[in-house]
This record gives sequence, structure tokens and C-alpha cells, in this order.
Amino acid sequence: MNPLRSLILAAAGNDAVRRLVSTAPVSRGVVDRFVAGESTADAVEVTAALARDGLAVTLDYLGEHTTDRELADRTVRAYLEVLDSLHEAGLAGAAEVSVKLSAVGQAFDEGLALANASRICAAAEQCGTTVTLDMEDHTTTDSTLAVLAELRRSWPSVGAVLQAYLRRTLGDCRDLAGSRVRLCKGAYAEPDSVAFTDPHEVDLNYVRCANVLLEGEGYPMFATHDPRLVSIIGERAKWYDRKPGSYEHQMLYGVRPDEQRRLAETGETMRVYVPYGGQWYGYLMRRLAERPANTTFFLRSLVGTS
Ligand SMILES: Cc1cc2nc3c(=O)[nH]c(=O)nc-3n(C[C@H](O)[C@H](O)[C@H](O)COP(=O)(O)OP(=O)(O)OC[C@H]3O[C@@H](n4cnc5c(N)ncnc54)[C@H](O)[C@@H]3O)c2cc1C
Repeated sequence: MNPLRSLILAAAGNDAVRRLVSTAPVSRGVVDRFVAGESTADAVEVTAALARDGLAVTLDYLGEHTTDRELADRTVRAYLEVLDSLHEAGLAGAAEVSVKLSAVGQAFDEGLALANASRICAAAEQCGTTVTLDMEDHTTTDSTLAVLAELRRSWPSVGAVLQAYLRRTLGDCRDLAGSRVRLCKGAYAEPDSVAFTDPHEVDLNYVRCANVLLEGEGYPMFATHDPRLVSIIGERAKWYDRKPGSYEHQMLYGVRPDEQRRLAETGETMRVYVPYGGQWYGYLMRRLAERPANTTFFLRSLVGTS
């Protein structure tokens, strides 16, 4: 792994660094670039602005690896609140929610995570929208897919996420190609035994998986900022006779915003993944680890030179 990326991911777990970054006033501007804000109202306001620009949204209430029932319950309540607010604001057609099972109890009780995710799915259905289950590190893949299968018995539109860096993913794409599937490269530090670690291999697998999803009867969601992959998806969509609206592109809030608008203007469905909530630190560090340019920008603002 790139040494800068390892350093930042290590800093993500360091309490002193966390305190420094969370309290430095200059961090705010950098945080605002990637995170909608801390409250439900912030999330709805950003959703409304993106929807006015013709962009679809998936909202992520930030918080991972909950080891406590009360925190898991608080996460569920945050999702119920934001779903209600989206409905009231007339935005449920433009926005769905993304949920990490580790934030609703998966690490200590898979049954609780299923029950909590079910509460969110039921609320989403009532509000006229749906849910996608984010995918986390490879030790959780089987559990997440098992919970997904249970949820889909009642809510068939619940979205799955598959990570092209995992060696198993082509098989998972074949299994899930008839459904709503987000394909991403994968964001966690994974061992060579389970994942392609050469970026070129990951890209090749992304294209193989994209072919399987586009050939299937489901609704593929291509989550990548990679200009080469975005362009290949465009070509392959034509090849498989997929019309815009029968698949979508997805990118993160604050990453390539001009490209997001450009794709939407060409008639493509472009969904922006919008994180919000008080637990933004780990998310921000992963975004910085992905791209040295972001890190330089961030470090400069932290020491006050930009
Ligand atoms: C909507 C969405 C949902 C996601 N959900 C999950 C999930 O559930 N689980 C999971 O493990 N991961 C998830 N990810 C993260 C994903 O796995 C990758 O870690 C992340 O998207 C970076 O990979 P990339 O495809 O953008 O390409 P990269 O390999 O990071 O970058 C490829 C190229 O894209 C361009 N690019 C990338 N970042 C930038 C930038 N900041 N500014 C300008 N150009 C840039 C550059 O040209 C770069 O060379 C999600 C990503 C998105 C977009």
C-alpha cells in the first residue's frame, strides 16, 4: 500500500490526531467539502440543492463499528428522522439511504443488525424510497449478503454493494445480477489472499463485473470517479442496449462535482453519496487516504496556509 495512505489510515485510529483534526477550526472547510453537515436539517438542505441540479442522492448517516445497543438504536433513529424529513420536503423520490450494518449492531449481534435494518427499510418504504446496504471489510461480506437476502424477502429493492477488489466478487455479481447492485472498487485495506492488490487488476475486475451486471436483468449502480471506467461503462451500456435510467452512475459528495453535473446533463442518472452526522472523522480520513492531492489540501488548511 502507498506509504502516505497507510500513514493516514493509521492516523484515523489515533486519538490525539482525531482530537486535533476535530477541534481545529480550519478543518471545517475541508470537512464541509466532503460531508453535508452534522444534522438532519443539513442533510436535507444539501439533498435539496443537489436535486435542484438534477442529481439523485443517497444519504449516509456517519457512524461505524457500533459495539453497543444504545448507539445502534440511535443510528436507526437518525435514519428514521431523515427519512421522515425527506418525505416532508418532497425529496423521497430523489434520495434513498445507505446503511452500514456495523453501525446498527452487526459486530456483536447479526440478528439485531437485521432487525434494525428492517426498521429502516420499512420506514423507507413508507416514505416512498429505498435502502442500499454499504459493504465493509471482507470479514463481513458473508454476513452482509445473508442479511441482504433476508431483507429482500420483504423489500426486494434493497440495494447490495459489491467490491471489485475482492476475488470472490465476479461470482457474487453473477448471483445478484438480477437485482439492484452498486459496484465499487472497495475502500478497505485487504490482504492479497482475498483481494486484488494491484490497481490494474482491480480495474480489470471492475469491467468484468460491470459486464455481468449490465448483461443481467437488474439495476446496476456504478460507483466510481475513475474517468476511464466511467467512459467504459458508457460504451458497455450501449453495447448491452441499456438506456439511461436502467442503470446509474454514483460518486461521492465533493468528489468531481463538475463531472457529476456533466453526466446528469447528458441524461444519465447520477447519484451522489452524501455523508452527514457527527462521526465524520473516519470517513474524512478514508477520503484523504485515497488521494494525495486531497491530503495536501487538507494539511495546508490544518496548518493555516490556505
Ligand atoms: C457512491 C459510492 C459508494 C461507495 N460505497 C462503498 C462501499 O459500500 N464499500 C466500499 O468498500 N467502498 C465504497 N465506495 C468507495 C470505493 O470503493 C472507492 O474506495 C472509491 O470510490 C475510490 O475509488 P474510485 O473508483 O473512485 O477510483 P480511484 O482508483 O480512487 O481513482 C481513479 C481515478 O479517479 C479519479 N479520481 C478519484 N478520486 C478523485 C478526486 N477526489 N478528485 C478528482 N479525481 C478523482 C482520478 O482520475 C483517479 O486516478 C463507494 C464509492 C462511491 C463513489
